[in-house]
Amino acid sequence: MQLKLFNSMSRQEEPVFADKDETLRFYCCGPTVYAPAHIGNFRTFLLQDLFRRVIEATGLQTCHVRNVTDVDDKTIRGANENGESLSDFTAYWRAKFEADASELNCLPPHHAPSAVAHIPEQIALTEKLISKGLAYVADDHSVYYRISAFPDYGKLAGLNMEEMRPNADQRLNTSDEYDKESLNDFALWKAWKPEDGDFKWESPWGPGRPGWHLECSTMSMIYLGESFDLHSGGVDLKFPHHENEIAQSEGATGKPFVRHWFHINHLRVENQKMSKSLGNLYTLAEIKEWGFTPSELRYVLLSGHYRQPLNFSRESLTAAHSALQRIQKAAQNLGAESLSKSGSTTSIQSTRYSGVLQALCEDLNTPNALGKLHTALGNLEKEIKSNTLSEEDKPAEIAALESVCALLGVWPENKDNDASATVPDKILQLAEERLAAKTAKDWQKADALRDQIAAQGWQVKDSKHGYDLEKEKG
Ligand code: AMP
Ligand code: ZN
Repeated sequence: MQLKLFNSMSRQEEPVFADKDETLRFYCCGPTVYAPAHIGNFRTFLLQDLFRRVIEATGLQTCHVRNVTDVDDKTIRGANENGESLSDFTAYWRAKFEADASELNCLPPHHAPSAVAHIPEQIALTEKLISKGLAYVADDHSVYYRISAFPDYGKLAGLNMEEMRPNADQRLNTSDEYDKESLNDFALWKAWKPEDGDFKWESPWGPGRPGWHLECSTMSMIYLGESFDLHSGGVDLKFPHHENEIAQSEGATGKPFVRHWFHINHLRVENQKMSKSLGNLYTLAEIKEWGFTPSELRYVLLSGHYRQPLNFSRESLTAAHSALQRIQKAAQNLGAESLSKSGSTTSIQSTRYSGVLQALCEDLNTPNALGKLHTALGNLEKEIKSNTLSEEDKPAEIAALESVCALLGVWPENKDNDASATVPDKILQLAEERLAAKTAKDWQKADALRDQIAAQGWQVKDSKHGYDLEKEKG
């Protein structure tokens, strides 16, 4: 089997293949480490993780690079506001990100380079672009990319640069970077400003710091070579970030930068954009406070097709909980207390779950894959019930179940070890009914349900996301 994936550059589904040594080389734009990553960020990182699991299940090896953006406007502002060094500030948020990613079962990338650690190479790339006439030094000692000198600019986003050329009035009104030759030119090197505080690096153009787009071009080419197989990020990165990376890398090397572009659409909450101002920006820590497990969140984030926006709701976590319970019950019926997390996916094609891999190979169709998983579980349940499975078949069935869990990266958690995950199904069900009653303004029913929940030793409290459940003490 081979994965076919939509390529945002060619705008069609294409087989994903490795250029060299059967190792697929791919780069994912990593987190900006200045605050906790939200569950939308993790939709993107989880899809990239799933992509890697599918590629490995089809027999290729991978070289997965995901950078850490530890120098940009947000990290510098955060460190200055906290009175900390940039490295202490970003190390804290990087560790938090890595802990969340690990709980969500993201395989650690083979390389996770820091932008700060590669400043000399970023300066070298900028010098190369200046020497080729593709960049210029402005009066304030910043360096800009000269878009008009790169005819292919706009090919990923499908832009017509002639139409985009601003008129003189627009230029005066909208550009606060007066030193640029053209409004669309973007910074490769940003000259130091007083608000940057102590955070600056020396360069041939004076003190300053690299631009974000330059960081990714540089690190991807250091770890994967001038041309590599695939590049990925959330859909918001397609323009200008990835367009600018292409201009920088292809401008400097004269070679094709990346063959396949993989963009993941956004997570939304109650059909609205996730944002701080709307108060609907959630983190893994909050989802765990609600009583759900990282695996349940992972299941939800995989449940929609990556090319469509996905709407997040609390109900979807409850549904994920039931789905994972179904896997747990199947494992127990086969005689396994819990499932091993080190299952191998290489022989999944010879199991009852081969349809799951098949669906994933068709443009990572996760809704279809989860449908196939449930059909296979249904058949397994029937066979268990009718005693058609022999004792000798059971170890292979357990291994098959472990392999499909390893492919998707979801496992039922062992509830005894996880205090946050002990809300019983019936309590969740009552809390959902109470929420529905409140939404329908049926206060009497809502109060009665709250009393019913209390009678079973749980307290339900209203919160911005619906409700919280707490076990009564004692
Ligand atoms: P950042 O830490 O802001 O650089 O973002 C890390 C990754 O998360 C990038 O690939 C973004 O495109 C992606 N991202 C940001 N917001 C969302 C969202 N709401 N849904 C899915 N991915 C997102
Ligand atoms: Zn990037």
